Amino acid sequence: MTDSIYDVIIIGGGPGGYTAALYCVRSGLSALVIEKLSAGGQMAETEQVDNYPGAGEGIGGFELAERMREGAERFGARTLYAQAQKADLRANPKRITTDQGERLGRSVVLAMGAYPRMLGLAGEQELRGKGIAYCAACDGMAYRGKTVAVAGGGNSAVADALMLAKLCAKVYLIHRRDTLTASKVYLKALRENGIEILWNSRVTRLLHDGRLTGVELAEVNTDRRSKLACDGLFVAIGRIPDTGLAAGQAATDPSGYLVADETTRTSIPGVFAVGDLRTKPMRQIVTAAADGAVASRFVEEYLVELFNGQP
Ligand code: NAP
Repeated sequence: MTDSIYDVIIIGGGPGGYTAALYCVRSGLSALVIEKLSAGGQMAETEQVDNYPGAGEGIGGFELAERMREGAERFGARTLYAQAQKADLRANPKRITTDQGERLGRSVVLAMGAYPRMLGLAGEQELRGKGIAYCAACDGMAYRGKTVAVAGGGNSAVADALMLAKLCAKVYLIHRRDTLTASKVYLKALRENGIEILWNSRVTRLLHDGRLTGVELAEVNTDRRSKLACDGLFVAIGRIPDTGLAAGQAATDPSGYLVADETTRTSIPGVFAVGDLRTKPMRQIVTAAADGAVASRFVEEYLVELFNGQP
């Protein structure tokens, strides 16, 4: 092995990526994390994380991310702040092209995450954190006792609405169809939790005074407009996994998530997927971190096989 080839290159410095790095370096592997901006990914944008074990009174997402980076670097992980532009995942060693040059790795952990699909309305980006949210588990507590709406009709929207109903004074579910995209068994739970479903409706405008004050709705059949006052709008209309680097190489499911089971192995030998871009039932900081730890075990196993028992 030469020093210029890392045992593992991890693309994405969120909780999955830095946990994979931490566990890999503690197993004696050389690890490089390629991160385009700053540690944390989506987590860094979360004002306060309360549901990560040990967060105590809560911890800022940015701070938790920095701690994860420092923890991995303490044991020898390196970070390259660069935009990964191309990944030749089938090559051996695997080649990652970045805007800071090429890096080689015997194995690769893909940890680029997923980003929420946006409604695409004027002001949506600016109102993020000021009434617009994309994750009830992350930001729901900030709306305790308030009136909120959830946009979407899939399982995520329903799960968000049910979670918010435990905290909020009133929850509306705004769905553009007359039937749920989510499993129909949830209808009873929605009813029992007092959630009001606004069928055949879509959000057409965000009303605000610097903070969200309500939304304008359009009835999809008649285009009749109405206004709904609310303190928060949780957008839960699906997520987009950030898997462009693996496009045409690793297998994905119909929604674009990288197919990987609990071992985090993808369809390409030596390539692993952790966190939100992987097929999995629950996408949270703690499950991404768990993926990272698991990946290290199978990275190690792969390298042992690759070098015939001499990693
Ligand atoms: P999803 O199943 O794709 O549902 C997205 C929902 O948003 C649909 O109701 C869709 O309506 C609506 N939508 C999409 N674009 C929209 C737009 N521009 N404006 C308004 N509405 C829009 O996504 P998801 O709910 O995030 O779930 C993703 C996957 O995770 C699914 O496979 C889901 O089953 C799974 N999941 C499972 C659980 C669980 O507890 N088992 C929990 C959460 C998620 P249309 O139907 O009209 O397109």
